[in-house]
Amino acid sequence: MKYKTVLILFAMAIQISSFSQIVNKIHTESKQQSAYALELCKYLHQNPELSLQETETAKRMARELKDLGFEVTENFGGNNVVGIYKNGEGPVIMLRTDMDALPIEEKTGLDFASTKKVKDEDGNEVAVMHACGHDIHMSVWVGTLRTLVALREEWKGTLLVIAQQAEEISGGAGLAIEEGLFTKFPKPDYALAYHINPELEAGKIGLVSGPVFAGVKTAEITVYGEGGHGAYPEKCIDPIVIASRIVLDLQTIVSREISPLEPVVVTVGSIHGGTRPNIIPDEVKLELTLRYYSDEAINKVIEGIKRISISAASMAGVPDNKLPKIYIHEVETPPVLNNHKLSENIVKYAGEVIGNESILHVTPAMVGEDFGKYSKTDEKIPICLIWLGSSNADLLKELQNKGEKPAPLHSPFLNPDYPKTIETGISVMTANVIGLMMRK
Ligand SMILES: [Zn+2]
Ligand SMILES: [Zn+2]
Repeated sequence: MKYKTVLILFAMAIQISSFSQIVNKIHTESKQQSAYALELCKYLHQNPELSLQETETAKRMARELKDLGFEVTENFGGNNVVGIYKNGEGPVIMLRTDMDALPIEEKTGLDFASTKKVKDEDGNEVAVMHACGHDIHMSVWVGTLRTLVALREEWKGTLLVIAQQAEEISGGAGLAIEEGLFTKFPKPDYALAYHINPELEAGKIGLVSGPVFAGVKTAEITVYGEGGHGAYPEKCIDPIVIASRIVLDLQTIVSREISPLEPVVVTVGSIHGGTRPNIIPDEVKLELTLRYYSDEAINKVIEGIKRISISAASMAGVPDNKLPKIYIHEVETPPVLNNHKLSENIVKYAGEVIGNESILHVTPAMVGEDFGKYSKTDEKIPICLIWLGSSNADLLKELQNKGEKPAPLHSPFLNPDYPKTIETGISVMTANVIGLMMRK
C-alpha cells in the first residue's frame, strides 16, 4: 500500500470515528426536538392551505426560522420562504421543505384531523387536507434546523433553507429559481429533501441512487371534424371516432416504440366532446399526462403523439387545414435524479444513526416531484431526495398479512405514524448535514 493511500485511509478513519462520536448527541437532541416538531405538525395538519395560498404556513415557517437566528427572506417568488444560517467556513447545504396541501376531505378520524374548508382558484368551497405529508416535511425540517442550531459546535458551513410553495402543481421551485435562489444567496454544494412514503415502515428510509421521481409533461390534443346530425354520419367527419382511434393508438407508443427497459407512461386522463346523442360535434379535446426519465424517451413520445394524431385525422379524411392541434405545456417537472456520490454519503451517515438494515433500496416512481428543478440549473447542484418511511410498523405487518396496503399519498385516509416518522426524519437529516459539513 502506498504511503499516500495509507494517509487517506487514516484520515477517513478519523473522520468516521469523530462522526460516530457525535451520533449519540444527534440522537439525544433529535429526540428532544421531535416533541416540539410533533406539536408543530399537528398545528400544520389542522391548518392546511392549498397550493399558492400558503400565506399563513409561510408566515409560521418564517417565524420558526427567525426564532432560530436565520436571516429570513419572505415572499421570494410567491410564498416561498428562504433562510440563511452562517456557521463558519464550510460547505453550503440546502434543505428544502414543501408547504402546500390538497383539496381532499380528510377521513382519518384523527383527533387533529383537518376540518378546514377554503375557496379554490375557481371560487368553489373545497375541503383541504395535508394528504401528501407536507406537514411532516415541514415539521421535520424545522426540527432538523433546531437540532442543527443546538449542535452548531459540531459543524461548520452555511445552511440555505427553503420552505417552498406549490409543490403539488409544480410551480414553487421554478419561481424560487427564477427569483434568484442560487444567485442572491450562497450557492449550495448539495441540496437535500424528504418525501414521506407510506409503503415503508416509520423508522426506516428509502434511498435510490439515480432516478427517484419521473419527469412530467402535460399534452393537449384538439381533434377537429365536421359536425352535423347524428343520423347523417356520411355528411360529417366524426371527431369522436378519430379521437377514439387516437386514444387506442397512443397505447402503442409505450408498447411498440419505446424499449421495454425504459420507464415511460402515456395516459389520456381526460376526453371531452359533444353535447347530445344525436349531434356529431365539431371537435374533441384530449388531455394527457406523460411520465419519463430520459430526454430521448420523452422526445420520441411527443413525436409519436403528433404522428399518430395527424395520421388518424388524415385517414378519416380531415382536410390539411383542420388536422389536430397538439400542444405540449411548457411548465415542466423534470425527473428527480439523485446524485450517486451524495447518495453514497447519505447511506453512510444515515446508517450510523438508524443502522444499515433500516436503509431500504426502493424502485423509481412514476409520480413527479418538482425538487428535480433545483438540479437542472446552470449551477448543476447535486441533489438527493430521500423517502421517509411513514407507516406504523405493526399496522404495516397487519395489513401485509391480510394482503392489503396502507393508505397511499393523496388518500383521505393517509395516516402516518407521526412521532416515529418525525423523530427518524430529524435524526437522519441532522446526521446527513453534520456528516457533509465535516467533510471539509
Ligand atoms: Zn403530492
Ligand atoms: Zn408531496
